[in-house]
Amino acid sequence: MTAIDSLPPLREVIASHGLSARKSLGQNFLLDLNLTAKIARKAGDLTGCDVLEIGPGPGGLTRGLLAEGARKVVAVEKDRRCLPALHEIADAYPGRLEIIEGDALEVDLTGHLTGPVRVAANLPYNVGTELLVRWLTPDSWPPFWDSLTLMFQREVAQRIVARPGSKAYGRLALLAQWRCDAKIVLDLPPQAFTPPPKVSSAVVHLTRLDAPRFEANPKTLSHVVAMAFNQRRKMLRAALKGLAPDIEDQLRAAGLEPTARAEEISLEGFCALARQLHGT
Ligand code: SAM
Repeated sequence: MTAIDSLPPLREVIASHGLSARKSLGQNFLLDLNLTAKIARKAGDLTGCDVLEIGPGPGGLTRGLLAEGARKVVAVEKDRRCLPALHEIADAYPGRLEIIEGDALEVDLTGHLTGPVRVAANLPYNVGTELLVRWLTPDSWPPFWDSLTLMFQREVAQRIVARPGSKAYGRLALLAQWRCDAKIVLDLPPQAFTPPPKVSSAVVHLTRLDAPRFEANPKTLSHVVAMAFNQRRKMLRAALKGLAPDIEDQLRAAGLEPTARAEEISLEGFCALARQLHGT
């Protein structure tokens, strides 16, 4: 019998540990272990990797990650009601699951993970987006992780992989695609979750590149992009006028039309503008 077979079905785990889903914690659980195994496989080859899982809940995805061969899973969960269920999984996989009780936005993971590290999570939407932005904007590159495999509302997933000219294109797409390959690898209907959320979901897989696609100072790029999309309907010369008194000249020097709108500018164009403004 394998470790995963020795554990009870997730519905039983939820009933025996009284894990009624809490809206305030964004709890929409995945109870189908075939599905959680499929999501774990989307994270790539886990052999020899440490996996950081945020929000394991009753542990469906955690079981998938362990069964798929992760060397070790470090799981950060805020809801202490879930801890006994997670300890049962840790007992079934001795030495391979470390459970950290806490808020993923606050815990310090220094010393808990050894590379290569993959991150996998099915998280509440707001926490997921905030963590994604943090993981994409570390103080130095490369970051501590090699890949991120994250569940989002489908609309947010589309914003991460969006191309110029689309409504979904904006800061998230540029931040993600500047230093990563990003793609949607799985679509999930609301009924895949218990309880079902109101909207569809999608899993996004991001693989980090060793170096950015185009040279740019990270802070300048982030600032320019934020300003440009804050007023996405305005022409760049108006949206960015606070950046430099001669912004029209700067835009032209970077090869951009001052009358263009943020939505039309490629990643390469934004990087050229960031270099121009940064004086590099
Ligand atoms: N991974 C489980 C699954 O797929 O069934 C649970 C997913 S549920 C959408 C989100 C999980 O994240 C819940 O277990 C919730 O308690 C946890 N969570 C919510 N906010 C969190 C935070 N700030 N830090 C850590 N865990 C959090």
